[in-house]
Amino acid sequence: MTEVFILDATALISGLDPNIIDRTLWTVAEVIDEIKDPRNKLRIEMAIESKTIKIGRPSATAIEKIKKTAEKSGDIVVLSETDIKILSLALDQKEAGHKVVILTDDYSVQNVASRLRIESKAYTTAGIRYEIKWELYCPSCFHSIEMRNIKRKEIFCEICGTKMKRRPYDKQKI
Ligand SMILES: [Zn+2]
Repeated sequence: MTEVFILDATALISGLDPNIIDRTLWTVAEVIDEIKDPRNKLRIEMAIESKTIKIGRPSATAIEKIKKTAEKSGDIVVLSETDIKILSLALDQKEAGHKVVILTDDYSVQNVASRLRIESKAYTTAGIRYEIKWELYCPSCFHSIEMRNIKRKEIFCEICGTKMKRRPYDKQKI
């Protein structure tokens, strides 16, 4: 059984070096858009070009199942479309018979993964000393605010009243 690592945005924004991980690495294309640091972005793009990181497209069936699971657990409130795709990709890989580990520091991603018996690892505990900064954004008008302490509660956009979602936007050294 091949062990597959799925990388989410928090893993890649933290500056995780894909070249030092001796596993098959996968992510989804949307994650790349969330990497703002130009040097980090270049490194990730090169890793994709050299197939060190593979880009996967999750199935519609898996996306449906992840959304349902996240609705039940309440995590749907904070999960971004990218998070849902990461989880769906992991589910597809698992159902294809691979042993899957999601590398993520996102509590909600970890929570949904565990409900589907998908293993997840917080890589910050593996000696990478960065902490992710988060922002809340409005999926409707794209208004965003910095969020210092993540708590799983619903926050509504002050401009248009839509329920806001969370996304990682930067990192800071601990
Ligand atoms: Zn709004």
